[in-house]
Amino acid sequence: TDTDTADEAVRATCDDATTCKRFATSKSYWKDPYIQYFARSVGERKAPEINRGYYARVQGVNRLLDAFIRKAECDCQVINLGAGLDTTFWRLKDENLMPRKFFEVDFPTVVSRKIHNIKTKPPLSKPLIETHSTDALLLDAHSLDSDRYCIIGADLRDISSLDEKLKKFQLNPELPTLLLSECVLVYMTPSQSSNIVHWAAETFHTAMFINYEQKERFLKTGWEHADALDMMTVYSMLPQDDVARIESLEFLDERELLQQLLQHYSICWATKDRLNLGNDK
Ligand code: SAM
Repeated sequence: TDTDTADEAVRATCDDATTCKRFATSKSYWKDPYIQYFARSVGERKAPEINRGYYARVQGVNRLLDAFIRKAECDCQVINLGAGLDTTFWRLKDENLMPRKFFEVDFPTVVSRKIHNIKTKPPLSKPLIETHSTDALLLDAHSLDSDRYCIIGADLRDISSLDEKLKKFQLNPELPTLLLSECVLVYMTPSQSSNIVHWAAETFHTAMFINYEQKERFLKTGWEHADALDMMTVYSMLPQDDVARIESLEFLDERELLQQLLQHYSICWATKDRLNLGNDK
Protein backbone atom coordinates (compact mmCIF):
# COMPACT_ATOMS: atom_id res chain seq x y z
CA THR A 1 0.00 0.00 0.00
CA ASP A 2 0.98 3.68 -0.18
CA THR A 3 1.37 3.80 3.58
CA ASP A 4 3.79 0.85 3.54
CA THR A 5 5.90 2.53 0.87
CA ALA A 6 5.91 5.81 2.78
CA ASP A 7 6.86 4.05 6.04
CA GLU A 8 9.64 2.17 4.24
CA ALA A 9 11.09 5.50 3.06
CA VAL A 10 10.92 6.83 6.63
CA ARG A 11 12.71 3.75 7.97
CA ALA A 12 15.47 4.25 5.40
CA THR A 13 16.24 7.71 6.84
CA CYS A 14 18.11 6.10 9.74
CA ASP A 15 20.77 4.95 7.27
CA ASP A 16 21.19 8.50 5.97
CA ALA A 17 21.79 9.79 9.48
CA THR A 18 24.24 6.97 10.20
CA THR A 19 26.28 7.34 7.02
CA CYS A 20 26.51 11.12 7.54
CA LYS A 21 27.69 10.58 11.13
CA ARG A 22 30.14 7.90 10.02
CA PHE A 23 31.60 10.22 7.40
CA ALA A 24 31.89 13.20 9.78
CA THR A 25 33.58 11.06 12.44
CA SER A 26 35.99 9.68 9.83
CA LYS A 27 37.01 13.34 9.33
CA SER A 28 37.43 13.78 13.14
CA TYR A 29 34.53 16.18 13.68
CA TRP A 30 33.85 14.19 16.84
CA LYS A 31 34.65 10.69 18.10
CA ASP A 32 32.29 7.75 17.80
CA PRO A 33 34.03 4.36 17.96
CA TYR A 34 30.68 2.53 17.62
CA ILE A 35 29.16 4.07 14.50
CA GLN A 36 31.34 1.80 12.30
CA TYR A 37 29.31 -1.20 13.45
CA PHE A 38 26.11 0.31 12.07
CA ALA A 39 27.35 1.77 8.77
CA ARG A 40 29.31 -0.68 6.68
CA SER A 41 31.56 1.84 4.95
CA VAL A 42 32.54 5.48 5.23
CA GLY A 43 30.66 6.08 2.00
CA GLU A 44 30.95 8.97 -0.35
CA ARG A 45 32.18 12.38 0.62
CA LYS A 46 29.71 14.76 2.27
CA ALA A 47 29.91 18.54 1.85
CA PRO A 48 31.63 20.44 4.70
CA GLU A 49 28.42 22.27 5.63
CA ILE A 50 26.65 18.92 6.09
CA ASN A 51 29.46 17.73 8.36
CA ARG A 52 29.34 20.95 10.38
CA GLY A 53 25.56 20.68 10.61
CA TYR A 54 25.84 17.15 12.05
CA TYR A 55 28.58 18.34 14.39
CA ALA A 56 26.31 21.10 15.76
CA ARG A 57 23.38 18.67 16.08
CA VAL A 58 25.31 15.93 17.86
CA GLN A 59 27.17 18.31 20.21
CA GLY A 60 24.05 20.38 20.95
CA VAL A 61 21.89 17.36 21.79
CA ASN A 62 24.68 15.69 23.79
CA ARG A 63 25.18 18.77 25.96
CA LEU A 64 21.50 18.91 26.94
CA LEU A 65 21.35 15.16 27.49
CA ASP A 66 24.53 14.99 29.58
CA ALA A 67 23.46 17.98 31.71
CA PHE A 68 20.17 16.25 32.51
CA ILE A 69 21.85 12.97 33.46
CA ARG A 70 24.41 14.80 35.64
CA LYS A 71 21.70 16.73 37.49
CA ALA A 72 19.88 13.47 38.17
CA GLU A 73 23.21 11.85 39.16
CA CYS A 74 22.38 9.05 36.72
CA ASP A 75 19.31 8.13 38.77
CA CYS A 76 17.10 8.61 35.73
CA GLN A 77 16.03 6.98 32.50
CA VAL A 78 16.40 7.96 28.86
CA ILE A 79 13.93 7.13 26.08
CA ASN A 80 15.19 7.68 22.55
CA LEU A 81 12.10 7.76 20.29
CA GLY A 82 12.90 6.85 16.67
CA ALA A 83 16.45 6.02 17.78
CA GLY A 84 17.44 4.45 14.48
CA LEU A 85 21.04 3.24 14.71
CA ASP A 86 22.06 5.86 17.27
CA THR A 87 25.07 5.00 19.48
CA THR A 88 24.42 7.26 22.50
CA PHE A 89 23.98 4.35 24.94
CA TRP A 90 27.54 3.15 24.30
CA ARG A 91 28.98 6.66 24.61
CA LEU A 92 27.25 7.15 27.98
CA LYS A 93 28.60 3.82 29.21
CA ASP A 94 32.15 4.83 28.25
CA GLU A 95 31.75 8.25 29.88
CA ASN A 96 30.36 6.84 33.13
CA LEU A 97 27.09 8.64 32.52
CA MET A 98 24.85 5.64 32.10
CA PRO A 99 21.29 6.24 33.29
CA ARG A 100 19.49 3.55 35.28
CA LYS A 101 17.93 2.39 32.05
CA PHE A 102 18.23 3.49 28.44
CA PHE A 103 15.27 2.74 26.15
CA GLU A 104 15.19 2.93 22.39
CA VAL A 105 12.10 2.68 20.20
CA ASP A 106 11.86 2.40 16.42
CA PHE A 107 9.91 0.47 13.79
CA PRO A 108 10.23 -3.33 14.29
CA THR A 109 12.28 -3.82 11.10
CA VAL A 110 14.83 -1.17 12.13
CA VAL A 111 14.98 -2.68 15.61
CA SER A 112 15.62 -6.21 14.33
CA ARG A 113 18.50 -4.90 12.21
CA LYS A 114 19.97 -3.11 15.21
CA ILE A 115 19.58 -6.22 17.40
CA HIS A 116 21.37 -8.26 14.74
CA ASN A 117 24.30 -5.81 14.83
CA ILE A 118 24.41 -5.85 18.62
CA LYS A 119 24.36 -9.66 18.73
CA THR A 120 27.13 -10.08 16.17
CA LYS A 121 29.50 -7.26 17.24
CA PRO A 122 31.20 -7.87 20.62
CA PRO A 123 32.04 -4.15 21.22
CA LEU A 124 28.27 -3.52 21.13
CA SER A 125 27.13 -6.56 23.11
CA LYS A 126 29.87 -6.52 25.76
CA PRO A 127 28.64 -3.37 27.58
CA LEU A 128 25.12 -4.84 27.70
CA ILE A 129 26.32 -8.12 29.13
CA GLU A 130 28.67 -6.42 31.61
CA THR A 131 25.86 -4.31 33.03
CA HIS A 132 23.41 -7.19 33.22
CA SER A 133 22.93 -9.17 36.42
CA THR A 134 21.45 -12.47 35.24
CA ASP A 135 22.71 -14.92 32.66
CA ALA A 136 20.24 -14.45 29.86
CA LEU A 137 19.18 -11.29 28.08
CA LEU A 138 15.53 -11.18 27.12
CA LEU A 139 15.59 -11.32 23.38
CA ASP A 140 13.18 -11.83 20.51
CA ALA A 141 13.02 -10.61 16.92
CA HIS A 142 11.72 -7.15 17.78
CA SER A 143 13.00 -6.43 21.25
CA LEU A 144 16.00 -6.89 23.46
CA ASP A 145 15.96 -6.21 27.17
CA SER A 146 18.85 -6.05 29.61
CA ASP A 147 19.16 -4.34 33.00
CA ARG A 148 20.43 -1.05 31.55
CA TYR A 149 19.56 -1.10 27.84
CA CYS A 150 16.30 -1.97 26.15
CA ILE A 151 15.29 -1.68 22.51
CA ILE A 152 11.67 -2.04 21.45
CA GLY A 153 10.01 -2.34 18.04
CA ALA A 154 6.88 -0.20 18.00
CA ASP A 155 5.05 2.34 15.88
CA LEU A 156 5.22 5.71 17.64
CA ARG A 157 1.87 6.63 16.12
CA ASP A 158 0.20 3.97 18.30
CA ILE A 159 0.54 5.48 21.77
CA SER A 160 -1.32 2.84 23.77
CA SER A 161 0.83 0.01 22.44
CA LEU A 162 3.98 2.12 22.95
CA ASP A 163 3.01 2.80 26.55
CA GLU A 164 2.20 -0.86 27.15
CA LYS A 165 5.49 -2.10 25.67
CA LEU A 166 7.61 0.40 27.63
CA LYS A 167 5.89 -0.61 30.87
CA LYS A 168 6.36 -4.29 30.08
CA PHE A 169 10.10 -3.55 30.04
CA GLN A 170 10.05 -1.77 33.43
CA LEU A 171 9.75 1.82 32.38
CA ASN A 172 9.41 3.68 35.68
CA PRO A 173 7.20 6.81 35.47
CA GLU A 174 8.52 7.95 38.88
CA LEU A 175 12.09 8.38 37.66
CA PRO A 176 13.35 11.63 36.11
CA THR A 177 13.08 10.93 32.40
CA LEU A 178 14.79 12.36 29.38
CA LEU A 179 12.90 11.87 26.12
CA LEU A 180 14.73 12.42 22.89
CA SER A 181 13.46 12.62 19.32
CA GLU A 182 15.92 13.56 16.62
CA CYS A 183 14.42 14.09 13.19
CA VAL A 184 11.50 11.80 13.99
CA LEU A 185 8.34 13.80 14.71
CA VAL A 186 8.71 15.51 11.33
CA TYR A 187 7.62 12.23 9.69
CA MET A 188 4.26 12.28 11.44
CA THR A 189 1.15 14.38 11.18
CA PRO A 190 0.97 17.28 13.66
CA SER A 191 -1.71 15.45 15.64
CA GLN A 192 0.35 12.22 15.83
CA SER A 193 3.44 14.06 17.04
CA SER A 194 1.46 16.13 19.52
CA ASN A 195 -0.02 12.89 20.91
CA ILE A 196 3.49 11.69 21.76
CA VAL A 197 4.54 14.96 23.34
CA HIS A 198 1.29 14.98 25.30
CA TRP A 199 1.68 11.33 26.38
CA ALA A 200 5.15 12.16 27.71
CA ALA A 201 3.85 15.16 29.67
CA GLU A 202 1.08 13.03 31.20
CA THR A 203 3.27 10.05 32.04
CA PHE A 204 6.22 11.69 33.82
CA HIS A 205 6.29 14.31 36.57
CA THR A 206 9.97 15.17 36.19
CA ALA A 207 11.13 15.09 32.62
CA MET A 208 12.76 16.81 29.72
CA PHE A 209 11.85 16.34 26.06
CA ILE A 210 14.54 17.19 23.52
CA ASN A 211 13.45 17.48 19.93
CA TYR A 212 15.74 18.20 17.00
CA GLU A 213 14.33 19.10 13.60
CA GLN A 214 13.16 21.86 11.37
CA LYS A 215 12.07 24.98 13.15
CA GLU A 216 8.52 25.90 14.18
CA ARG A 217 6.99 22.52 15.06
CA PHE A 218 7.28 21.85 18.78
CA LEU A 219 4.08 21.91 20.80
CA LYS A 220 4.06 22.61 24.46
CA THR A 221 1.06 20.40 25.34
CA GLY A 222 1.21 19.80 29.06
CA TRP A 223 4.78 20.97 29.61
CA GLU A 224 5.69 23.66 32.14
CA HIS A 225 8.44 25.23 30.16
CA ALA A 226 9.62 25.08 26.54
CA ASP A 227 12.46 26.71 24.68
CA ALA A 228 14.04 26.53 21.25
CA LEU A 229 17.30 27.63 19.71
CA ASP A 230 18.03 27.60 16.02
CA MET A 231 21.14 25.66 15.14
CA MET A 232 23.14 28.73 14.12
CA THR A 233 22.71 29.99 17.69
CA VAL A 234 23.60 26.55 19.09
CA TYR A 235 26.70 26.52 16.90
CA SER A 236 27.78 29.90 18.25
CA MET A 237 27.26 28.69 21.84
CA LEU A 238 29.37 25.53 21.55
CA PRO A 239 32.91 25.69 23.02
CA GLN A 240 34.62 27.91 20.47
CA ASP A 241 38.02 26.23 20.72
CA ASP A 242 36.42 23.01 19.49
CA VAL A 243 34.46 24.90 16.82
CA ALA A 244 37.76 26.44 15.65
CA ARG A 245 39.26 22.93 15.57
CA ILE A 246 36.48 21.48 13.37
CA GLU A 247 36.42 24.55 11.15
CA SER A 248 40.06 23.91 10.31
CA LEU A 249 39.33 20.31 9.24
CA GLU A 250 37.80 21.22 5.90
CA PHE A 251 37.74 24.39 3.91
CA LEU A 252 34.29 25.94 3.57
CA ASP A 253 34.03 28.49 0.86
CA GLU A 254 30.77 30.15 1.66
CA ARG A 255 29.98 30.59 5.32
CA GLU A 256 26.57 31.87 4.29
CA LEU A 257 25.65 28.40 3.09
CA LEU A 258 26.26 27.00 6.55
CA GLN A 259 24.24 29.80 8.13
CA GLN A 260 21.30 29.22 5.83
CA LEU A 261 21.39 25.51 6.53
CA LEU A 262 21.68 25.83 10.31
CA GLN A 263 18.98 28.48 10.55
CA HIS A 264 16.41 25.99 9.20
CA TYR A 265 16.91 23.61 12.09
CA SER A 266 16.49 23.91 15.79
CA ILE A 267 16.80 22.11 19.09
CA CYS A 268 13.71 22.49 21.25
CA TRP A 269 13.39 21.26 24.79
CA ALA A 270 10.48 21.18 27.18
CA THR A 271 10.65 20.44 30.88
CA LYS A 272 8.60 19.45 33.91
CA ASP A 273 10.45 19.53 37.19
CA ARG A 274 8.47 18.40 40.20
CA LEU A 275 11.59 16.93 41.80
CA ASN A 276 13.35 20.29 41.46
CA LEU A 277 16.43 18.93 39.78
CA GLY A 278 16.88 22.28 38.11
CA ASN A 279 16.60 20.69 34.68
CA ASP A 280 14.61 23.68 33.45
CA LYS A 281 17.71 25.84 33.84
N1 SAM B 1 17.14 9.58 15.78
C1 SAM B 1 18.08 8.88 14.92
C2 SAM B 1 19.28 9.75 14.63
O1 SAM B 1 19.21 10.96 14.85
O2 SAM B 1 20.30 9.21 14.16
C3 SAM B 1 17.40 8.43 13.60
C4 SAM B 1 16.83 9.53 12.79
S1 SAM B 1 16.03 8.97 11.30
C5 SAM B 1 16.06 10.46 10.37
C6 SAM B 1 14.31 8.82 11.77
C7 SAM B 1 13.99 7.55 12.54
O3 SAM B 1 12.67 7.64 13.08
C8 SAM B 1 14.05 6.31 11.66
O4 SAM B 1 14.86 5.34 12.28
C9 SAM B 1 12.58 5.88 11.59
O5 SAM B 1 12.42 4.49 11.43
C10 SAM B 1 12.03 6.39 12.92
N2 SAM B 1 10.58 6.61 12.89
C11 SAM B 1 9.91 7.53 12.17
N3 SAM B 1 8.57 7.39 12.34
C12 SAM B 1 8.41 6.37 13.22
C13 SAM B 1 7.26 5.74 13.80
N4 SAM B 1 6.02 6.13 13.50
N5 SAM B 1 7.45 4.72 14.65
C14 SAM B 1 8.71 4.30 14.96
N6 SAM B 1 9.83 4.85 14.44
C15 SAM B 1 9.68 5.87 13.58
